[in-house]
Amino acid sequence: GRGLVDPDEPVIHADDEAFLRGRGAFETTRVYGGRPFRLERHLERLGESAARLGLAVPPGIPELAAEALEAAGPVDAFLRLYVTPGREDRGEPLALALVGELPPDLEELRARGVSLITVPLGVDPPWLLGGVKSTSYAANMVAVDEARRSGADDALFLARDGIVLEGPTTNVWWRRGDTLHTPALSLGVLAGVTRAVLAEAGPELGYRVEEGVHGLPDLLAADEVFTSSSVREVMPVAAVDGTRYELGPAARALQAALRALT
Ligand code: PLP
Repeated sequence: GRGLVDPDEPVIHADDEAFLRGRGAFETTRVYGGRPFRLERHLERLGESAARLGLAVPPGIPELAAEALEAAGPVDAFLRLYVTPGREDRGEPLALALVGELPPDLEELRARGVSLITVPLGVDPPWLLGGVKSTSYAANMVAVDEARRSGADDALFLARDGIVLEGPTTNVWWRRGDTLHTPALSLGVLAGVTRAVLAEAGPELGYRVEEGVHGLPDLLAADEVFTSSSVREVMPVAAVDGTRYELGPAARALQAALRALT
């Protein structure tokens, strides 16, 4: 109902439930030359997250996204979409689209590979909000802080018993020989849009794709490790808890395949 708003102008009230209690759903889509990649799938997942959080999705979100993107022009950027329950006790849900600048260091990170530390999440999968892209990402962000404090770039969540889950904002993959492994969705990891693209592209590049339940030793014994996400695309991993990896051919080929699709 506000139309186009300057990103510096406040648009959320302090008594919005998403701010008060972290009860909001969101999506982050990468925009290439002004066009969002796989927007329909992101909109579908926004609906799925909202349903899990008990939120109604207001109509007109695709139009909101189109309006924001048109104003931004033919940029490489990210598009965030939010759905919140709105102000406490008013029952008027709010939707918001935000176009913003990509982190400046993505290609530098891709060239050197990121280092990860494992962070135990202390959950037995699947947990209540596993796989929901919600504005309750405080634990995810604290994990990133912990990684940075220890000199790493990012975190990797483990469930109880050391089961490999995902990163705070990424899915994780590893390769042994010709097989690409990634944690199964039944563990409560986010159904990444990039993850789905890679699962389709893998076999076309000659890799077998296996979605399963694995302990950390399986990942540590890999020939190659990488993460996937809309913003960072396919990001090679150079180290996990100090175990080092060569930047390998699968991450390189999948990144090229993803770019070809975009
Ligand atoms: N896992 C989590 C927890 C995330 O927040 C994200 C995205 O931000 C991903 C995985 C990757 O998902 P996508 O490829 O859809 O960006």
